[in-house]
Amino acid sequence: MNRNPKQIILSWLLHHANREASSHYFYQVKDLILQKHARVIGYEIQFIEGKKCWTCKGTGKYMKYDHYTGWYSEPCWHCYNGWYHRPVWVILQKYQFGKYTFLKPIKSTYEKPETNVPVIKGYIDHEPSKYGEFALFILLLLYEKGFMKRWWRESGWRWYRNWYYPCNWAQSAIHIFKRKQNSIPAQRIKRSLLKLRYRLLPAKSQPEPEELPF
Ligand SMILES: [Zn+2]
Repeated sequence: MNRNPKQIILSWLLHHANREASSHYFYQVKDLILQKHARVIGYEIQFIEGKKCWTCKGTGKYMKYDHYTGWYSEPCWHCYNGWYHRPVWVILQKYQFGKYTFLKPIKSTYEKPETNVPVIKGYIDHEPSKYGEFALFILLLLYEKGFMKRWWRESGWRWYRNWYYPCNWAQSAIHIFKRKQNSIPAQRIKRSLLKLRYRLLPAKSQPEPEELPF
């Protein structure tokens, strides 16, 4: 197999990012890379079980009562023929890229496809990877136009309790930079300074109970 370093690195990144990602930004990048570098080696079918409707108990008919005509049924408004979610078959194209395989959904259908292609039941689990976030970042940085702008816009809104982990340093720094004295650590420092001042003040300068405005 022809393996150049770029292919090895890129396929590794895609494999790990695939474990992490679910945004449409990632799927665009994934499609782009697969189309350019990977080759189709077959198909698989994913079957996702449906959910029956509770309102009509899966009959698709809703019983109504009329004083003159008695009981009669109407098609259930909440579902399709008794299915709240219809069972669905998703056709997946299977790619080989480097030493990894990737699946890409290309079509879904409510009819069972007539084929001998292997069927995967349920959702495809991706075991999480500790390199996932890193790989995703690099891929988006390389392939998504305007990623840096979007990343900056979306960064720093939340405060990570585990800010001292290296993987959270960048987000924590942006949080402080963007929110300054309103950032979570600044507010915490302010609160503890206030508490300290209150404790250090001599007791008599604290307001007497009758001086309180309520
Ligand atoms: Zn129903």
